[in-house]
Amino acid sequence: MRCALFGDQIHAYEDVLKPTGQYEISKAPITYMDEQYKINLEELPYQMTIGHQTIVQRLNPEAGPIEPKYQPLSTLPRSPDPNGRFDIVGVVLFVEDAPRIISNIRGRDSPVREISVTDTSQDHAMTISAWNDLTGKPCDAISNWAERFNVVGFTALKTRHTRGFTLNTTMSTRIIMNPKGERADMLREWVKLYQHVFLDRQEKILNVRYPSAEKKVVTIAELRSKKASNAIPDEVAWIRVTIPDPDLQRVNAYIGCLGCGKRTHLPIGTRFPCISCKKAETTAAYRVTFKFDAADESGTMSFTTFNDDTEKLFRKPASEIWNIKSTGNLEAMNSVLL
Ligand SMILES: [Zn+2]
Repeated sequence: MRCALFGDQIHAYEDVLKPTGQYEISKAPITYMDEQYKINLEELPYQMTIGHQTIVQRLNPEAGPIEPKYQPLSTLPRSPDPNGRFDIVGVVLFVEDAPRIISNIRGRDSPVREISVTDTSQDHAMTISAWNDLTGKPCDAISNWAERFNVVGFTALKTRHTRGFTLNTTMSTRIIMNPKGERADMLREWVKLYQHVFLDRQEKILNVRYPSAEKKVVTIAELRSKKASNAIPDEVAWIRVTIPDPDLQRVNAYIGCLGCGKRTHLPIGTRFPCISCKKAETTAAYRVTFKFDAADESGTMSFTTFNDDTEKLFRKPASEIWNIKSTGNLEAMNSVLL
C-alpha cells in the first residue's frame, strides 16, 4: 500500500521510517485509490495518509539501526524464491541510455532501464532491471558508467529466472550512491587496484549490447559449456554446422497465434484475442517449427527453429511449408531440403 508524505513530513519521517523496518502505525486514515494511480503492480488499491494524530512505532527498537545487508552476487539463490528480497553492492559497468517502455500483462506501460553490475564473487556481470520511478534520477546518477566505475548499493531486489538469471527492483528498492560497510569499502579498493578487470568485463557487456558487424562463431562444444546461469540475456551465438540427417517428420506446421505461436483451430487470417500471450487482438497465422540435430567438428547438438528461421532454413514461406506438410506431398517435401 502506498503512503505518501507531503511537505515537512518528508524530512520529519526520514529517520523514523526505514526500508525493511517493521512498524506499528495507528490512526492513519486509509482510503481507496483508483487503479490508474498505482505506480507499481504489487500495490494494493489503497492509500494511507499520515496526519497529526498518527503514531508510528518501530516493532523491535532494540534490534539496532536498520542497515542494508549486502551479500555477494554469487550467494543469491539460483532457484526461484518469490518472497526473497536481497541487498547487493556492486561496481556499475553499464546503464542503459534511457528507460524503455514495457507493457505488462494488465496492458499498462512501465518504464524499465537495465543496469549491469559486478563484484569480486563471480567473474561475470549481472543485470538489474530498474523499474518505474527508479528509472529516472536514481539511474541518471549512475549513468556516468563510461567515465568511472561507481560502487553502488541496491536494496530489496528480487531474483528473476526467465531469460537467464537477473535481478529486478521492487517497490522497496533504493539505489544508494555512497554505500557504507565492509563490502562497499572492499569494492572501492578493488576498483582502484584492478581497472583492467572492469574494462574487460565491461567490454563483454558492450559487445553483446552493441554487436559489431563481425560475428563471433563458436563451436558446439563451446556452446554446450555455456551454463544457463552465466548466459547473458539476448546473447547471440553463431555456429557453423551441417545437418547430417534432417528428418521431415520433425517439421511441425500448424495454424497459431502470430504473437506467441499458441495453436488455434481458427481459420488462417482470423483476428482473435489470445489467451496464451494475453494480446487483445492477434492473427491466426501459419507457424512452422523444425527440430534437428546439427554437427560440427566438436560435437552434435539438438536445435529447434521457429517460424522466420524455419522459413530461412528451407528458403520457403511458412504457408508453403504448411501446404506441403498438410498434403503429405513427399516428393515436394524432399525437394524442400535440397
Ligand atoms: Zn498468443
